[in-house]
Amino acid sequence: MSSDTYEILALKYAELTTRRRFESFVAADDHDGPHPIDYFVWVIRNADRTIVVDTGFDAAEGAKRGRKVDRAPAAALEQIGVAAGSVEQVVVTHLHYDHAGTLGAFPKARFHLQEAEMAYATGPCMCHNFLRYPFTVEHVCDMVRNVYSGRVAFHDGDAEVAPGVTVHKIGGHSRGLQCVRVATATGPVVLASDSSHYYENFEQCKVFPITIDIADVLDGYVRLQALAGSPRRVVPGHDPLVLKRYPALNSQTQGIVHRLDVARLDA
Ligand SMILES: [Zn+2]
Ligand SMILES: [Zn+2]
Repeated sequence: MSSDTYEILALKYAELTTRRRFESFVAADDHDGPHPIDYFVWVIRNADRTIVVDTGFDAAEGAKRGRKVDRAPAAALEQIGVAAGSVEQVVVTHLHYDHAGTLGAFPKARFHLQEAEMAYATGPCMCHNFLRYPFTVEHVCDMVRNVYSGRVAFHDGDAEVAPGVTVHKIGGHSRGLQCVRVATATGPVVLASDSSHYYENFEQCKVFPITIDIADVLDGYVRLQALAGSPRRVVPGHDPLVLKRYPALNSQTQGIVHRLDVARLDA
């Protein structure tokens, strides 16, 4: 067991405010009502190292998909003193467009990815428009180029990225999504990414519609909470409530950069 602990920051870079609830839950009685979504990248850091989790998407990708990018992920990182150009470790939770764009902004990085995710994003399932829709081919090709330049660390299941930082494969949403478990002073915190987009997904077992295996998604909701040791230390990947439940890093970053390694604001 490592004694390393980390600060964890959620950086919001984009949002979509016109979403409706039926777009977030399968078979729930939630057919109407607004349901905004936030887009984040995350930073895990201590005195020894800085690890970025996911690379988001840029304004051009956002325009294609009708999402407003408030600041490029690299610009959000700059706000907290992290130069994307010198980041050495990036965990890519999965290859969906909103998690694996802007790879070129990280020229020194080694990318941590599940083997199953690369196989899925480049394999026969992508012949189906329904399954490839959340991917952007240029992002996937960029990752293939990173494989060919020796910059991808492949994992299969559970793996350690650094002392106190581990990744864990969670099925169901994509073939090889990985969540990230981080040791902090307040206990282990789990960045769920899209293994739970919203608190409501894992807290109430309400499955998100972009799903390739519902049983795996439901098992994932259980696994997230087991990894964190408490549902209160599971951080969903897209929920605007994250910015309400955790404090801003400082008065300038309200609504943009919030700290996830500290006590939640809701008792
Ligand atoms: Zn996704
Ligand atoms: Zn996502």
